[in-house]
Amino acid sequence: MSALRFDGTTIRLEDIPIPHPAPGEALVRVALAGVCSTDIEITKGYMGFTGTLGHEFVGIVVECDSRRDIEGRRVVGEINAGCGLCKWCARGLGRHCPNRTVLGILGRDGAFAEYLTLPAANLHLVPDNVPDRSAVFVEPLAAALEILEQLPVKRGCEALLIGAGRLGQLIARALDREGCVIDVLSRSEEKINRMEGLPRRAWIGRPPPPASYSLVVEASGSPEGWTAAVNAVEPRGYIVLKSTFTDGFVFNPAPLVINEVTLIGSRCGPFPRALDVLSAGLNPQSLIDAEYPLSEGVIALEEACRPGVIKVLIYLDSDRAPSVHPISS
Ligand SMILES: [Zn+2]
Ligand SMILES: [Zn+2]
Repeated sequence: MSALRFDGTTIRLEDIPIPHPAPGEALVRVALAGVCSTDIEITKGYMGFTGTLGHEFVGIVVECDSRRDIEGRRVVGEINAGCGLCKWCARGLGRHCPNRTVLGILGRDGAFAEYLTLPAANLHLVPDNVPDRSAVFVEPLAAALEILEQLPVKRGCEALLIGAGRLGQLIARALDREGCVIDVLSRSEEKINRMEGLPRRAWIGRPPPPASYSLVVEASGSPEGWTAAVNAVEPRGYIVLKSTFTDGFVFNPAPLVINEVTLIGSRCGPFPRALDVLSAGLNPQSLIDAEYPLSEGVIALEEACRPGVIKVLIYLDSDRAPSVHPISS
Protein backbone atom coordinates (compact mmCIF):
# COMPACT_ATOMS: atom_id res chain seq x y z
CA MET A 1 0.00 0.00 0.00
CA SER A 2 1.03 3.63 -0.33
CA ALA A 3 1.99 5.58 2.76
CA LEU A 4 3.33 9.09 3.31
CA ARG A 5 6.32 8.58 5.57
CA PHE A 6 8.91 10.65 7.37
CA ASP A 7 12.38 9.19 7.99
CA GLY A 8 13.68 11.95 10.25
CA THR A 9 14.76 14.21 7.39
CA THR A 10 12.59 13.60 4.32
CA ILE A 11 8.86 13.12 3.67
CA ARG A 12 8.13 10.73 0.83
CA LEU A 13 5.50 8.37 -0.52
CA GLU A 14 6.55 4.76 -0.02
CA ASP A 15 5.11 1.39 -0.85
CA ILE A 16 4.90 -0.68 2.35
CA PRO A 17 3.03 -3.86 3.37
CA ILE A 18 -0.56 -3.55 4.60
CA PRO A 19 -0.28 -3.69 8.42
CA HIS A 20 -1.50 -6.74 10.38
CA PRO A 21 -3.84 -5.86 13.25
CA ALA A 22 -2.57 -7.16 16.61
CA PRO A 23 -5.07 -9.01 18.87
CA GLY A 24 -7.82 -6.58 19.86
CA GLU A 25 -6.98 -4.26 16.98
CA ALA A 26 -8.87 -3.40 13.82
CA LEU A 27 -7.61 -2.87 10.28
CA VAL A 28 -9.12 0.33 8.90
CA ARG A 29 -9.13 1.50 5.28
CA VAL A 30 -8.61 5.23 5.42
CA ALA A 31 -11.04 7.34 3.37
CA LEU A 32 -10.02 10.87 4.28
CA ALA A 33 -7.29 12.31 6.51
CA GLY A 34 -6.60 15.80 7.81
CA VAL A 35 -3.25 17.59 8.01
CA CYS A 36 -2.68 19.04 11.47
CA SER A 37 -0.06 21.42 12.86
CA THR A 38 1.36 18.47 14.80
CA ASP A 39 2.17 16.69 11.52
CA ILE A 40 4.10 19.74 10.38
CA GLU A 41 5.93 19.99 13.72
CA ILE A 42 6.87 16.30 13.45
CA THR A 43 8.52 16.95 10.10
CA LYS A 44 10.63 19.57 11.93
CA GLY A 45 11.69 16.98 14.52
CA TYR A 46 8.90 17.18 17.14
CA MET A 47 8.58 13.91 19.12
CA GLY A 48 11.45 12.39 17.12
CA PHE A 49 8.84 10.39 15.20
CA THR A 50 9.66 8.39 12.11
CA GLY A 51 7.12 6.38 10.11
CA THR A 52 3.76 7.04 8.49
CA LEU A 53 2.46 10.51 9.34
CA GLY A 54 -1.11 11.59 10.10
CA HIS A 55 -3.59 11.05 12.94
CA GLU A 56 -6.85 12.72 11.87
CA PHE A 57 -8.94 10.36 9.75
CA VAL A 58 -12.22 8.76 8.90
CA GLY A 59 -12.31 5.30 7.37
CA ILE A 60 -14.00 1.92 7.06
CA VAL A 61 -13.24 -1.08 9.28
CA VAL A 62 -12.02 -3.90 7.05
CA GLU A 63 -11.20 -6.48 9.67
CA CYS A 64 -11.68 -6.72 13.43
CA ASP A 65 -11.53 -10.14 15.10
CA SER A 66 -12.61 -8.85 18.49
CA ARG A 67 -15.58 -6.84 17.14
CA ARG A 68 -17.03 -8.36 14.00
CA ASP A 69 -20.04 -6.03 14.39
CA ILE A 70 -18.00 -3.00 13.30
CA GLU A 71 -16.56 -4.57 10.14
CA GLY A 72 -17.73 -2.55 7.15
CA ARG A 73 -18.72 0.39 9.37
CA ARG A 74 -17.49 3.97 9.06
CA VAL A 75 -15.32 5.02 12.00
CA VAL A 76 -13.05 7.66 13.45
CA GLY A 77 -10.34 6.68 15.92
CA GLU A 78 -8.86 8.02 19.15
CA ILE A 79 -5.16 8.34 18.57
CA ASN A 80 -3.69 7.21 21.92
CA ALA A 81 -3.35 3.46 22.43
CA GLY A 82 -2.58 2.66 26.08
CA CYS A 83 -0.95 -0.54 27.34
CA GLY A 84 -4.18 -1.59 29.10
CA LEU A 85 -2.23 -2.72 32.16
CA CYS A 86 -1.05 0.35 34.07
CA LYS A 87 -2.88 2.48 36.66
CA TRP A 88 -3.64 5.19 34.09
CA CYS A 89 -5.23 2.70 31.70
CA ALA A 90 -7.19 1.20 34.65
CA ARG A 91 -8.62 4.69 35.29
CA GLY A 92 -9.70 5.06 31.67
CA LEU A 93 -6.87 7.51 31.02
CA GLY A 94 -5.02 5.53 28.37
CA ARG A 95 -4.13 8.80 26.71
CA HIS A 96 -1.79 9.41 29.66
CA CYS A 97 -0.40 5.85 29.71
CA PRO A 98 3.40 6.11 29.94
CA ASN A 99 3.70 3.14 27.57
CA ARG A 100 1.19 4.39 25.02
CA THR A 101 1.63 4.59 21.30
CA VAL A 102 0.04 7.47 19.42
CA LEU A 103 -1.18 7.22 15.85
CA GLY A 104 1.29 8.95 13.55
CA ILE A 105 3.02 10.65 16.51
CA LEU A 106 4.65 8.05 18.78
CA GLY A 107 5.57 4.48 17.97
CA ARG A 108 2.60 3.77 15.67
CA ASP A 109 2.21 4.32 11.94
CA GLY A 110 -0.38 6.94 11.09
CA ALA A 111 -3.28 7.77 8.81
CA PHE A 112 -1.64 9.12 5.64
CA ALA A 113 -1.79 5.62 4.20
CA GLU A 114 -4.32 3.34 2.60
CA TYR A 115 -4.68 1.31 5.80
CA LEU A 116 -3.98 1.76 9.51
CA THR A 117 -4.43 -0.32 12.64
CA LEU A 118 -5.83 0.80 15.99
CA PRO A 119 -7.29 -0.99 19.03
CA ALA A 120 -11.00 -1.67 18.44
CA ALA A 121 -11.68 0.19 21.71
CA ASN A 122 -10.33 3.38 20.12
CA LEU A 123 -12.87 3.37 17.30
CA HIS A 124 -16.17 5.25 17.25
CA LEU A 125 -18.92 4.77 14.70
CA VAL A 126 -19.72 7.89 12.69
CA PRO A 127 -23.43 8.84 12.62
CA ASP A 128 -24.94 8.64 9.13
CA ASN A 129 -25.72 12.35 9.06
CA VAL A 130 -22.05 13.30 9.51
CA PRO A 131 -20.26 13.25 6.13
CA ASP A 132 -16.59 12.27 5.83
CA ARG A 133 -15.55 15.89 5.34
CA SER A 134 -16.97 16.74 8.76
CA ALA A 135 -16.00 13.49 10.48
CA VAL A 136 -12.34 14.09 9.62
CA PHE A 137 -12.46 17.03 12.09
CA VAL A 138 -13.44 14.84 15.07
CA GLU A 139 -9.96 14.58 16.58
CA PRO A 140 -9.20 18.33 16.69
CA LEU A 141 -12.81 19.13 17.61
CA ALA A 142 -12.54 16.71 20.53
CA ALA A 143 -9.36 18.52 21.58
CA ALA A 144 -11.32 21.80 21.50
CA LEU A 145 -14.16 20.27 23.55
CA GLU A 146 -11.68 19.00 26.14
CA ILE A 147 -11.65 22.57 27.52
CA LEU A 148 -15.31 22.13 28.50
CA GLU A 149 -14.52 18.79 30.19
CA GLN A 150 -11.77 20.35 32.28
CA LEU A 151 -13.44 23.60 33.23
CA PRO A 152 -17.11 24.38 33.81
CA VAL A 153 -17.84 27.23 31.41
CA LYS A 154 -20.95 29.24 32.27
CA ARG A 155 -23.25 30.69 29.62
CA GLY A 156 -22.35 34.31 28.97
CA CYS A 157 -18.76 33.76 30.14
CA GLU A 158 -16.44 36.18 28.34
CA ALA A 159 -13.44 34.37 26.97
CA LEU A 160 -10.38 35.47 25.06
CA LEU A 161 -9.08 33.03 22.47
CA ILE A 162 -5.50 33.61 21.41
CA GLY A 163 -4.82 32.16 17.97
CA ALA A 164 -7.19 31.63 15.05
CA GLY A 165 -5.46 28.69 13.38
CA ARG A 166 -6.56 25.09 12.91
CA LEU A 167 -7.37 24.42 16.55
CA GLY A 168 -8.43 27.98 17.42
CA GLN A 169 -11.13 27.87 14.74
CA LEU A 170 -12.68 24.80 16.35
CA ILE A 171 -12.27 26.14 19.90
CA ALA A 172 -14.19 29.29 18.93
CA ARG A 173 -17.04 27.20 17.52
CA ALA A 174 -17.07 24.83 20.54
CA LEU A 175 -17.14 27.63 23.12
CA ASP A 176 -19.75 29.56 21.16
CA ARG A 177 -22.05 26.54 21.25
CA GLU A 178 -21.74 26.55 25.05
CA GLY A 179 -22.92 30.15 25.15
CA CYS A 180 -19.51 31.73 25.69
CA VAL A 181 -18.87 35.21 24.36
CA ILE A 182 -15.64 34.93 22.36
CA ASP A 183 -13.08 37.61 21.68
CA VAL A 184 -10.08 36.65 19.57
CA LEU A 185 -6.51 37.86 19.48
CA SER A 186 -4.68 36.96 16.29
CA ARG A 187 -2.18 38.50 13.91
CA SER A 188 -4.33 37.44 10.97
CA GLU A 189 -7.55 39.27 10.11
CA GLU A 190 -8.03 36.75 7.31
CA LYS A 191 -8.14 33.88 9.80
CA ILE A 192 -10.48 35.73 12.15
CA ASN A 193 -12.82 36.22 9.18
CA ARG A 194 -12.88 32.43 8.78
CA MET A 195 -14.71 32.32 12.13
CA GLU A 196 -17.81 33.47 10.30
CA GLY A 197 -18.66 36.44 12.49
CA LEU A 198 -18.11 34.57 15.74
CA PRO A 199 -15.81 36.83 17.69
CA ARG A 200 -17.61 39.64 19.46
CA ARG A 201 -14.37 41.57 19.29
CA ALA A 202 -11.21 40.91 17.30
CA TRP A 203 -7.84 42.06 18.57
CA ILE A 204 -5.69 42.03 15.47
CA GLY A 205 -2.02 42.09 16.35
CA ARG A 206 -2.83 44.36 19.33
CA PRO A 207 -3.38 42.87 22.79
CA PRO A 208 -6.49 43.62 24.87
CA PRO A 209 -6.20 45.69 28.06
CA PRO A 210 -4.52 43.85 30.94
CA ALA A 211 -6.57 41.72 33.36
CA SER A 212 -9.73 41.79 31.24
CA TYR A 213 -10.84 38.15 30.85
CA SER A 214 -11.80 35.46 33.38
CA LEU A 215 -10.98 32.77 30.81
CA VAL A 216 -8.14 32.89 28.30
CA VAL A 217 -7.51 30.01 25.90
CA GLU A 218 -4.03 30.05 24.39
CA ALA A 219 -3.87 28.23 21.05
CA SER A 220 -1.48 30.39 19.06
CA GLY A 221 1.50 28.03 19.21
CA SER A 222 3.77 31.01 19.77
CA PRO A 223 5.49 32.14 22.99
CA GLU A 224 4.05 35.63 22.38
CA GLY A 225 0.63 34.06 22.79
CA TRP A 226 1.62 32.91 26.26
CA THR A 227 2.76 36.42 27.23
CA ALA A 228 -0.51 37.83 25.93
CA ALA A 229 -2.48 35.24 27.91
CA VAL A 230 -0.76 36.12 31.19
CA ASN A 231 -1.42 39.82 30.57
CA ALA A 232 -5.06 39.37 29.58
CA VAL A 233 -6.25 37.08 32.37
CA GLU A 234 -8.07 38.55 35.37
CA PRO A 235 -6.96 37.86 38.94
CA ARG A 236 -8.43 34.46 39.95
CA GLY A 237 -8.99 33.72 36.24
CA TYR A 238 -8.14 30.67 34.17
CA ILE A 239 -5.64 30.13 31.36
CA VAL A 240 -6.18 27.01 29.26
CA LEU A 241 -2.98 26.20 27.45
CA LYS A 242 -3.20 24.29 24.17
CA SER A 243 0.17 25.20 22.65
CA THR A 244 3.09 22.87 23.26
CA PHE A 245 5.68 25.58 22.42
CA THR A 246 8.31 23.40 20.77
CA ASP A 247 10.71 26.34 20.56
CA GLY A 248 10.69 26.87 24.32
CA PHE A 249 10.20 30.17 26.08
CA VAL A 250 10.96 31.97 29.31
CA PHE A 251 8.50 31.01 32.02
CA ASN A 252 7.97 33.51 34.80
CA PRO A 253 5.49 32.15 37.36
CA ALA A 254 5.31 35.41 39.38
CA PRO A 255 2.22 36.94 37.68
CA LEU A 256 0.36 33.64 37.99
CA VAL A 257 1.13 33.48 41.72
CA ILE A 258 0.40 37.14 42.41
CA ASN A 259 -2.90 37.06 40.51
CA GLU A 260 -3.84 33.55 41.72
CA VAL A 261 -4.35 32.38 38.16
CA THR A 262 -5.25 28.76 37.47
CA LEU A 263 -3.30 27.28 34.58
CA ILE A 264 -4.78 24.23 32.83
CA GLY A 265 -2.85 22.18 30.28
CA SER A 266 -5.22 20.69 27.71
CA ARG A 267 -4.64 18.11 24.99
CA CYS A 268 -6.84 15.38 23.52
CA GLY A 269 -10.57 15.25 24.17
CA PRO A 270 -13.77 13.21 24.05
CA PHE A 271 -14.65 11.72 20.65
CA PRO A 272 -18.28 10.85 21.53
CA ARG A 273 -18.98 14.47 22.45
CA ALA A 274 -17.34 15.70 19.23
CA LEU A 275 -19.42 13.28 17.15
CA ASP A 276 -22.57 14.48 18.98
CA VAL A 277 -21.71 18.10 18.22
CA LEU A 278 -21.16 17.32 14.52
CA SER A 279 -24.33 15.24 14.36
CA ALA A 280 -26.25 18.10 15.99
CA GLY A 281 -25.28 20.39 13.14
CA LEU A 282 -21.83 21.92 13.64
CA ASN A 283 -20.35 22.05 10.14
CA PRO A 284 -16.60 22.75 9.98
CA GLN A 285 -16.29 22.20 6.22
CA SER A 286 -15.77 25.89 5.44
CA LEU A 287 -12.34 25.45 7.06
CA ILE A 288 -11.20 23.14 4.25
CA ASP A 289 -8.85 24.96 1.87
CA ALA A 290 -7.69 22.11 -0.32
CA GLU A 291 -7.91 18.36 -0.86
CA TYR A 292 -5.20 16.22 -2.41
CA PRO A 293 -4.88 12.54 -3.25
CA LEU A 294 -2.32 10.64 -1.16
CA SER A 295 -0.06 10.50 -4.23
CA GLU A 296 0.32 14.29 -3.81
CA GLY A 297 0.74 14.08 -0.04
CA VAL A 298 4.07 15.94 -0.04
CA ILE A 299 2.39 18.89 -1.79
CA ALA A 300 -0.51 18.67 0.67
CA LEU A 301 1.87 19.14 3.60
CA GLU A 302 3.55 22.08 1.85
CA GLU A 303 0.13 23.63 1.21
CA ALA A 304 -0.79 23.25 4.89
CA CYS A 305 2.27 25.36 5.81
CA ARG A 306 1.19 28.32 3.65
CA PRO A 307 0.08 31.40 5.60
CA GLY A 308 -3.69 31.70 5.88
CA VAL A 309 -4.35 28.02 5.16
CA ILE A 310 -6.49 26.33 7.81
CA LYS A 311 -7.28 22.78 6.71
CA VAL A 312 -5.81 20.58 4.02
CA LEU A 313 -7.25 17.10 3.52
CA ILE A 314 -5.69 14.02 1.95
CA TYR A 315 -8.08 11.59 0.30
CA LEU A 316 -7.40 7.95 -0.27
CA ASP A 317 -10.13 6.85 -2.66
CA SER A 318 -8.59 7.16 -6.11
CA ASP A 319 -12.03 7.59 -7.72
CA ARG A 320 -12.88 10.53 -5.52
CA ALA A 321 -13.01 13.92 -7.18
CA PRO A 322 -11.98 16.71 -4.82
CA SER A 323 -14.69 19.23 -4.08
CA VAL A 324 -12.12 21.85 -3.17
CA HIS A 325 -9.35 22.57 -5.58
CA PRO A 326 -5.89 23.33 -4.29
CA ILE A 327 -5.18 27.00 -3.84
CA SER A 328 -1.92 26.78 -5.74
CA SER A 329 -2.00 24.95 -9.03
ZN1 LIG B 1 -4.13 16.86 15.16
ZN1 LIG C 1 -1.11 1.88 30.27
